[in-house]
Amino acid sequence: MSVYAAWNPISEDRRGSASGGIATMLARQVLSEGGVYFGVRWSGEMKAVLDWTEDDVEPFRNSKYVQAQFSSQARSALETFLEAGRKVLFVGTPCQVASLRALRHYPNLICVDLLCHGTVPPEYLEEEIAFLCKETPDRITFRNGPLFRFSLWKGSSLLYSRDARHSHFLWAYLSGLSLREACFRCPFANLERSGDITLGDFIGIERHNASFVWIHSKAGEELFQRSGASWEERKLEERLSYRPGILECTKMPKERTVFEKALKGGKPFPKAVRKALRPYFMALPFKSLWNWCHHQAHLMKVKCQK
Ligand SMILES: Cc1cc2nc3c(=O)[nH]c(=O)nc-3n(C[C@H](O)[C@H](O)[C@H](O)COP(=O)(O)OP(=O)(O)OC[C@H]3O[C@@H](n4cnc5c(N)ncnc54)[C@H](O)[C@@H]3O)c2cc1C
Ligand code: SF4
Repeated sequence: MSVYAAWNPISEDRRGSASGGIATMLARQVLSEGGVYFGVRWSGEMKAVLDWTEDDVEPFRNSKYVQAQFSSQARSALETFLEAGRKVLFVGTPCQVASLRALRHYPNLICVDLLCHGTVPPEYLEEEIAFLCKETPDRITFRNGPLFRFSLWKGSSLLYSRDARHSHFLWAYLSGLSLREACFRCPFANLERSGDITLGDFIGIERHNASFVWIHSKAGEELFQRSGASWEERKLEERLSYRPGILECTKMPKERTVFEKALKGGKPFPKAVRKALRPYFMALPFKSLWNWCHHQAHLMKVKCQK
């Protein structure tokens, strides 16, 4: 089936999304056809929840790196929409899509599975927020397009913001330290996909922060073509050079032993993560100094060659 590098032509939409803003375009298309969109948004208590919308796709944009809860209310709403014959678009992690697909086949259900590095238990995020801020944020972002940055907002005030290299929470996520145990044995990190469409980052293509779009069904291809996304056809092999999420699971880092021991010893998440990552954070200033020296040496070399 087809593989595309695709992007949303509206730059504002791309800025608010993790990659090319394609999930937003698919969702808007389904809503414009009278359908319903299920995805993940933040609740008022800053929990990631699987919910639905019939009009506003904005709260569902961008990646939330915590395990999302599917409430019984949302689950029964999904069944009601499907039984009534409404078109439903469901975007989620492959494990969520697979569990949905295992229930029953609905011809009016279109599923998008995401390439997935893994998710963090929700209580880790709650504890980290309480550790970092006195106030409860009303917006959390982990990414600004291609840049990984952990930011907490309350209205227009920025409560906290660090790039991935300097954020304990984000570095613990990206290095795999804080992932749920199940994610290291994920049965979905392979070429057998659970959705009609697979979405991910098109690692290796920087233009427009393009999404990787891999189509698996006629319904998926038709929805993608109707969405108005800009695209160019590519080869699957181009995306396979970066293996996690598509050819293999995220590997457990060696620091995990220290992290788990600290948790078992009764330390809360923020303290356990800081203990496990201490060697990395202590080495950071030396790494920065080394990079600076390396850069200066390079500049001098270029100057001498002129
Ligand atoms: C937890 C997670 C891990 C990911 N890991 C990788 C990876 O390793 N490699 C890679 O190439 N791509 C990964 N992705 C996918 C990538 O980040 C983008 O989501 C994807 O490229 C689509 O981007 P977009 O700009 O079209 O949509 P976006 O606007 O960024 O959002 C896409 C959709 O993600 C859904 N979503 C957000 N958070 C969650 C969540 N916690 N659980 C379920 N669904 C959620 C939203 O409902 C929305 O529909 C991951 C995404 C998530 C959520
Ligand atoms: S890595 Fe696998 S088990 Fe973990 S959230 Fe992603 S799809 Fe689910």
